[in-house]
Amino acid sequence: METKVRRIGILTSGGDAPGMNAAIRAAVRNCIHHGITPIGIRRGYNGLIQGDTFEMDARSVNNLSNRGGTILYTARCKEFTTPEGVQQAVRTCRYAGIDGIIAIGGDGTFRGAGKLSEAGINTVGVPATIDNDIGCSHYTIGFDTAANTAIECIDKLSDTMQSHERASVVEVMGRHAGHLAVYVGLAVGATAILVPEFPVNLERDVIEKVREGRYRGKHHFLIIVAEGVGKCDEIAQQIEAATGIDARVSILGHIQRGGSPTARDRTMAARMGHTAVEELAKGHTDLVVCYRDSHIVTIPIAEALRMTKPLDPYMYKVAYDVSI
Ligand code: ATP
Repeated sequence: METKVRRIGILTSGGDAPGMNAAIRAAVRNCIHHGITPIGIRRGYNGLIQGDTFEMDARSVNNLSNRGGTILYTARCKEFTTPEGVQQAVRTCRYAGIDGIIAIGGDGTFRGAGKLSEAGINTVGVPATIDNDIGCSHYTIGFDTAANTAIECIDKLSDTMQSHERASVVEVMGRHAGHLAVYVGLAVGATAILVPEFPVNLERDVIEKVREGRYRGKHHFLIIVAEGVGKCDEIAQQIEAATGIDARVSILGHIQRGGSPTARDRTMAARMGHTAVEELAKGHTDLVVCYRDSHIVTIPIAEALRMTKPLDPYMYKVAYDVSI
């Protein structure tokens, strides 16, 4: 016989991403649709350990889809990586009558979700990170907004750099992955894109391209550097020394994590948050909600964590071929 799920806890964990609020809203509203009470958990797994939970209702998520950040706050929680921490979180769930958890975040968050599930609390993960570096899902909430923010900033930067005929070395986020850098680089027409996945030959891939461009009459050069490559100052100095072109560094930083989510992030978050509740309401557990080949699907957490997402070589090739 199916046991009725009564209370579902929702938390956001790891780095924030625009669209997390839209996922919270969808989860809350779908809980109410099913007659389930949604419970907000503050500061990721910290809130579960400390019992920092509160009942939510339909009105508590009014006007939320358009807001960046997360109203539940997010945090890292070292204590939750220990068996004692997990046991304490389970006690909170039992005490608060929570029958299921939706954990919105990245890989680390899903590792935690797997532990909770193993300990007997039904848990489903929802992928949200601007890095788009989660192997199991072709898309993660926040990526599109972050890319558009970066593009808007770079467009503005280009206006001034073009006027001074400079080279811009721009670092975009992405942690160890180059997905954001390649996407943004292709969109802004970068002269070169440096990512951690592919080895970089500065002389051949950057300096020579700048020289050739100048020879062809190009006035401005955009070099997009993924956070995982870094060393922007060094790169700018070498470009300047080799070409005589004034090269300036801009590190876009956390601005990429803020702002009102794009339509893509809002709708993806709504679909994923909704699906997480559907699964928990059916009594399912130990799953990550994923976007694969235009469909929302679910994958067992352990399997999801084993999956990798290589950088799209075609996208990189397109950016390289047209950057003349
Ligand atoms: P982002 O991609 O933005 O960094 P993330 O979810 O990968 O997001 P992490 O800091 O790696 O961010 O993980 C978030 C939290 O998940 C950790 O602070 C910790 O509480 C929990 N967590 C991570 N790994 C484990 C683990 N092996 N066991 C239990 N909990 C974990």
